[in-house]
Amino acid sequence: MNHEQSRDLYDRALSVLAGGVNSSVRATRPYPFFVERGDGGHVIDADGNRYIDYVNGYGPLLLGHDMPEQVRAAVQQYASAGPMYGAPTEVEVELAEFISRHVPSVEMLRFVNSGTEATVSAVRLARAVTGRDKIVVMQGGYHGAQESTLVDGAGTNTAPSSPGIPQEFAEHTIAVPFNDADAAREVFEAHGQDIAAVLTEPMLGNHGIVHPVEGYLETLRELTDDHGSLLIFDEVITGFRVGGLQCAQGKFGVTPDITTLAKIIGGGFPVGAIGGRSELIEQFTPGGDVFQSGTFSGHPVAMAAGLETLRYAAENDVYEHVNELGEKIRAGLTDIVADQEPSYTVVGTDSLFKIIFTREGPGDVPRTSISASGDNREPDDLDEQCEAGCKQRADCPRFDYCPKTGADVDAAETERWERLFWPAMKEQGVFLTANQFEAQFVSAAHTEADIEETLEAYKNAL
Ligand SMILES: *Cc1c(COP(=O)(O)O)cnc(C)c1O
Repeated sequence: MNHEQSRDLYDRALSVLAGGVNSSVRATRPYPFFVERGDGGHVIDADGNRYIDYVNGYGPLLLGHDMPEQVRAAVQQYASAGPMYGAPTEVEVELAEFISRHVPSVEMLRFVNSGTEATVSAVRLARAVTGRDKIVVMQGGYHGAQESTLVDGAGTNTAPSSPGIPQEFAEHTIAVPFNDADAAREVFEAHGQDIAAVLTEPMLGNHGIVHPVEGYLETLRELTDDHGSLLIFDEVITGFRVGGLQCAQGKFGVTPDITTLAKIIGGGFPVGAIGGRSELIEQFTPGGDVFQSGTFSGHPVAMAAGLETLRYAAENDVYEHVNELGEKIRAGLTDIVADQEPSYTVVGTDSLFKIIFTREGPGDVPRTSISASGDNREPDDLDEQCEAGCKQRADCPRFDYCPKTGADVDAAETERWERLFWPAMKEQGVFLTANQFEAQFVSAAHTEADIEETLEAYKNAL
């Protein structure tokens, strides 16, 4: 593949953009390809190379790159009519009505412009309504570029994960391992009266994809209820992808107090939302006194793109299609790595997929940090394992070996994934997310042929 144009563009970009990009994850090595345009489930770069695209904007593009006619028409209509006013429009009400009709926890919403803005406002709201400061987050969870959640460390022993954030922010943030019910119980025993909220993705979607162990989300629901804390599900990545229109909370059957959304609900345009029971969301200004505001919030073009995208998904077999292809690719990958178990773990559900490089030498099998049994043998019978993506079934023979926490994913071969595997896939025309941690997405524009071609590429690269 020729990448001359991309290299020249990156050379120019490095002079005027920090690190040559506008979001750090895009700076793939040795330099990123610059995209010229999308085409269905593919992207075409500045040198004319074509890739099957599983990045899909890092999540927003449920339908792929070609807007269905009704989405395109709405975007054009709202763009040429305004494009925005600083006064309310009907389309904001319509999108809010659609979301509150489908998402179990959501009666009322406030729209913002990104997932980060949504989680910032959700944390502020939780602190305001409980009169408490502490929030509990998951190690390996991601909630955007916000001061309160960019922490490293464990328990109350946390520190900001980036320079520029005062230590005081981390002092109010407690980090626990995902899927570790005992750790969550201990934290509530010690600090329950001070905890405003548990903020978690219903499944880790930005750290390898980690499915919840049965009962874990229910435990978080009980602990927060018992201690007068709120449960916030950050469904920025899972919203309208996992569980379809009811989102992951509907699929897993656990209803949070507050839900943050973004990505898909903007149909490819910048958006975010904080939703929940009316008596909570009403506390935002001007109805209540929790300050919340934004020049571009509820932008008509983004609202229209999101509304028509969700309507299109509701009226067509979008979820059926993407989930079927997701199943097909995860099952195909499970077959490909079958003779190398447990070196690789295929993860994901619905239209999410990834392989975690849980690779270690024979006899030195990786064990998860919270696995139940004590022995250190490889699983000897894989017949009963999850067939199309790890679901953390307790009766699966690989249960003790599947990554369950952020730390388990960190222990995988992340460098090998990024430096050897990702470029090998790119050179075969398959565009995966840039590192071991970010989820990959099947879109409605992908075809069976795309999946087959992708599986061939995996076979060659692994
Ligand atoms: C992407 C993401 C965010 C951040 O959203 P931005 O729109 O990038 O600010 C927050 N939480 C989760 C779970 C995400 O996947």
